[in-house]
Amino acid sequence: MNCPEKDVIYMDNNATTKVAPEVVDAMMPFLTECYGNPSSMHNFGGQVGSAVEKARSQVAELIGADSKEITFTSCGTESDSTAILSALQAFPEKRHIITTRVEHPAIKNLCENLGRFTGHNYRVTRLQVEADGTLDMAKYEEALSDETAIVSVMWANNETGVIFPVEKMAAMAKEREVLFHTDAVQAVGKIPINLAQLDIDFLSLSGHKLHAPKGVGVLYIKRGTPFVPFLAGGHQEEGRRGGTENVASIVGLGRACTLAAEMMDEENTRVRALRDRLEEGLLASVPKSMLNGIKEDRLPNTTNISFEFVEGEAILLHMDRYNICASSGSACTSGSLEPSHVLRAMGVPFTAAHGSIRYSLSIYNTEAEVDFVLEKMPPIIAELRELSPFWKAD
Ligand code: PLP
Repeated sequence: MNCPEKDVIYMDNNATTKVAPEVVDAMMPFLTECYGNPSSMHNFGGQVGSAVEKARSQVAELIGADSKEITFTSCGTESDSTAILSALQAFPEKRHIITTRVEHPAIKNLCENLGRFTGHNYRVTRLQVEADGTLDMAKYEEALSDETAIVSVMWANNETGVIFPVEKMAAMAKEREVLFHTDAVQAVGKIPINLAQLDIDFLSLSGHKLHAPKGVGVLYIKRGTPFVPFLAGGHQEEGRRGGTENVASIVGLGRACTLAAEMMDEENTRVRALRDRLEEGLLASVPKSMLNGIKEDRLPNTTNISFEFVEGEAILLHMDRYNICASSGSACTSGSLEPSHVLRAMGVPFTAAHGSIRYSLSIYNTEAEVDFVLEKMPPIIAELRELSPFWKAD
């Protein structure tokens, strides 16, 4: 397998991130000589168990939690499903859920198929977003009811980076004695999070979005929150998730969390400045381009820009000629190019939603890379527009 990373300009960090070299170093002993089972009685396994516990406290530290509130899972998707299905089982008489129209498929598809997982019908309120991607809080207040089992609202949107006021929303849910879950997969490691004083009952995070490996995640379960496990099995994770722990990845995630805390300032200054340079440069140099999502309350690393009258997939293919990696807002579903449900919910016009590109940066990006992308994008868009039947230059 040949993946010549040095030639790649990687701006697709909301899809997945490079595993930090420090994380690889921390993991290596647990892929080689330290192979004991963390549950074993002998010292050889017990040492591995101690490494898992160290990682648990490293994760807890990053999000202002107690290590007892951290349960390791296999990914963000598992954490999301566990939280929702747990709440529905803990309060079987409540048959209403509140979420938003812009959630990741991990929540969106679960909520659309609750009947299949639970055998019951649920009323699901999907809160609408404004044109800038923000939520209408009055509508949220109206939706909360005594029948609501759980609210699930993402901390930050994976496509636009728009940040939702989850602290306030959780407090409002608490007043109505409703559980609150947040999918913080895109937020953890990028913006400061301190759960200690918040009314958030469940939080999901995923290793591969913060420079740890794929296949490890966390569900934060606030102390005292009723909980029903998703995976029955052994006594691992205090009986909250059966299955022998993915030790090396858990150790890697712990190390990634300490790194994220160390790098948080850089993420919010240098990475934000690179993102702004890229965004401002593209909007200035490409006619009929527009920013999707509010400018202020956004993740520091993400920008989502629509280039009207061209297809996102075609843009990505042209970018690929220069080894520039990003994502488009459209997904090729059964042969037709559907614009993203997030941009559709925001009411982004058809001609713009199809041509949206998400650039998501990380601490590994440089100014030279941003300038290279700024040089290559305008001719790519101009070339594609020449072929577009909808494009008429003024
Ligand atoms: N939630 C959000 C907001 C995401 O962006 C993602 C991944 O893209 C997930 C959940 C799913 O995480 P995982 O890939 O770890 O299952």
